[in-house]
Amino acid sequence: MKKHNFSAGPSILPQEVFEKASQAVLEFNNSGLSLLEISHRSKDFVAVMEEARALVLELMGLTGKGYQALFLSGGASMEFVRVPYNFMTKSGKAAYLDTGTWAAAALKEAREFGDTIVVASSKSDNYNYIPKEYTIPADADYFHCTSNNTIFGTQMHSFPATEVPIVCDMSSDIFSRKVDFSKFGMIYAGAQKNMGPAGTTLVVVKEELLGKTGRHIPSILDYKQHIDKESMYNTPSVFAVYTSYLTLQWLKNNGGIEAMEKKNDAKAELLYAEIDRNPLFVGTAKTEDRSKMNITFLLNDASHNEQFDKLWKAAGISGLAGHRSVGGYRASIYNAMPIESVQVLVDVMRELEKKV
Ligand SMILES: *Cc1c(COP(=O)(O)O)cnc(C)c1O
Repeated sequence: MKKHNFSAGPSILPQEVFEKASQAVLEFNNSGLSLLEISHRSKDFVAVMEEARALVLELMGLTGKGYQALFLSGGASMEFVRVPYNFMTKSGKAAYLDTGTWAAAALKEAREFGDTIVVASSKSDNYNYIPKEYTIPADADYFHCTSNNTIFGTQMHSFPATEVPIVCDMSSDIFSRKVDFSKFGMIYAGAQKNMGPAGTTLVVVKEELLGKTGRHIPSILDYKQHIDKESMYNTPSVFAVYTSYLTLQWLKNNGGIEAMEKKNDAKAELLYAEIDRNPLFVGTAKTEDRSKMNITFLLNDASHNEQFDKLWKAAGISGLAGHRSVGGYRASIYNAMPIESVQVLVDVMRELEKKV
């Protein structure tokens, strides 16, 4: 039986995407060849790359607005390095909002380059909220934030109004909700949370912001070179790009971001309502900053953990353990997760309540 997969990443994808991707591994486009054995420069794969890049901009409402979409390698962690290389001027500085492990990891890389300013941090409260009162210095080269904190279950429900270009790590909530993407200078997201398999990272960048740092950028780290080479500077992760492309098509055929947001709202509401109602459970994130993608919670009495673990495993649930740095439980309810699976989890929580 297929499990109800609440894994934080790599994570659930639509079943039809798994099927189509499997088929392409066996034979791609009736070519008599596998997707995995053809040149990335073959006509058929070049078309996939072009269409995937265009589809990203279309779904985000960025077509014709000066943005470029790229599928790069190295994970979101590589963008922690590429971002300062491409946006921090030689004598400049960058502003970072510290909202979690990934935000702090991005900051650490930028510190290798130059001046960084941490505009606010929620670290002392184990990152259980999103700081909101802070000032972004007007002379910063860019402001970096993490839209959704995968590990701590918090999410930015609004973004600051600033003239400084906003660079945002959207790895775990990309395409999950309506956002005015044109407010951002650059957006990046590792595919394996809400878009595809591990192995590629989506980068969406406003082209006019590039080429201003006055520093030499090694080719592989230079967004401009990746744009000039149409995201084929070197061999892309063909399988990850193709599978992401299938997921983007699925998204479009199922009503796009707007329809996803409605579904995601309903799923999050269902689970948070149970966490708040059920006296055995407590949410770990501050209510107003709760994530609609990664829902973190604990049992008030940890001696019930074992019994709860047995129940959800018996119900066919997988991937519910919290991140090793937080403990407790984390239900990741990305786009591809049906509300029926969330209901199974809620039923298990009610069953536990009856049993203890
Ligand atoms: C998972 C994650 C990362 C790290 O992604 P890699 O692709 O493993 O480098 C970075 N940021 C966020 C918000 C994440 O959820």
